[in-house]
Amino acid sequence: MRVIIAGGSGFVGRELTQLLRKKGHEVTIISRHPGPGRITWNDLDTGGLPPCEGAVHLAGENLMNPLRWWNESYKKDLYSSRVDTTRALVRAISSAPTPPRSWILVTGVACYRPSQTALYTEESEWTPFDLLSQLVKDWEGAGRLSDDVAAKTRQVVIRPGAVLGRGGGAMKQMLPPFWLGLGGTLGSGQQPFPWIHVSDLAGIMALSLEAPLPPCPAADGPEVLNAVAPALNTNREFTKALGRALRRPTLLPVPGFAMRALLGAERAVVLMEGQRVVPKRTLDLGYKYQYPDLQAALGEIVGS
Ligand code: NDP
Repeated sequence: MRVIIAGGSGFVGRELTQLLRKKGHEVTIISRHPGPGRITWNDLDTGGLPPCEGAVHLAGENLMNPLRWWNESYKKDLYSSRVDTTRALVRAISSAPTPPRSWILVTGVACYRPSQTALYTEESEWTPFDLLSQLVKDWEGAGRLSDDVAAKTRQVVIRPGAVLGRGGGAMKQMLPPFWLGLGGTLGSGQQPFPWIHVSDLAGIMALSLEAPLPPCPAADGPEVLNAVAPALNTNREFTKALGRALRRPTLLPVPGFAMRALLGAERAVVLMEGQRVVPKRTLDLGYKYQYPDLQAALGEIVGS
């Protein structure tokens, strides 16, 4: 199968590319920077979508970019790097002489309102309530194919929690303070912490590409898959598990006001609050998690 991955150069994209190539598929990346095995966004606009059976969108300015201050310009980049690039890819899919069989858009669980009690599945109703949930709404809206294209191309929206893995994502910034024995719960630590190991996220995307779900009537919109580990953990459980895996103390809680001052209140939500998300449909599809619990996931990430 030939697969086009927008943002394939990133943390999640590299894992997916490696998995797909191992399975014998061909991967072409859409990037801002030209290079072997890549096309640029400009190439996509001018030359259209290269022939492919699958298209995946993973592009986006990093939400936790430590080099960027939380301001209007950063928020604009977060938005346009996701919504405008999704629009560009949908335009290319829609005008391709032979559109791909599968179109996978990866967004996030920020659409679900943070709560310590509510339990969210893919069927849960939601409406935007803050900046990040509005972003997900517009992003998923931009990804929606028109009915005539959706009749030929199966659309899947994958909503991951925090993606854990070596060399990127959330762990890259969390490991140094934990190694130094300065790790601690964020606020009370009671907030849910939806997470997934990067290998499982790649596995769910590969399953969606390789074993198409039954085509759904276009009017029903895309199939949604929550990409979170089935273990429902809190920030405290994650903090303690990471401390154990590293054999480091985790005694110093990080106060909420410090996180909000450092990250900006709208962004600190991701860490200071959380959602209990169940991957109901992902499990119903038969996906078998390699890392269903924190011990297994953190053992792989911080192990030798
Ligand atoms: P990365 O931060 O690694 O970025 C992915 C790619 O996006 C980059 O390699 C880059 O490709 C492209 N990109 C970065 N900034 C811009 C920009 N301003 N304009 C256009 N393209 C840009 O992301 P991840 O791999 O961690 O995440 C992939 C997707 O999954 C993202 O959309 C993210 O929001 C979502 N997600 C990630 C989570 C996580 O914990 N990592 C959690 C939930 C959702 P290039 O330089 O080649 O153009």
